[in-house]
Amino acid sequence: MTRTKLSVCQRKRRYDSEVAAVDAIAVSGLVLRSYRCDRCRQFHLTSRTKGKRVLGIGAGSG
Ligand SMILES: [Zn+2]
Repeated sequence: MTRTKLSVCQRKRRYDSEVAAVDAIAVSGLVLRSYRCDRCRQFHLTSRTKGKRVLGIGAGSG
């Protein structure tokens, strides 16, 4: 189980429920997944990437 870093938690958008998170994914049109944050107990979105391949895009639109 991975722990969410506090800095990550703070900069990410929070969703009250998984439904809200999934809805936001649908709106974005991106391939994302939601996960429960153990810092704020709410939901965040994360890119569904396998491995640790970095594409060089550091700054997301958040
Ligand atoms: Zn959080």
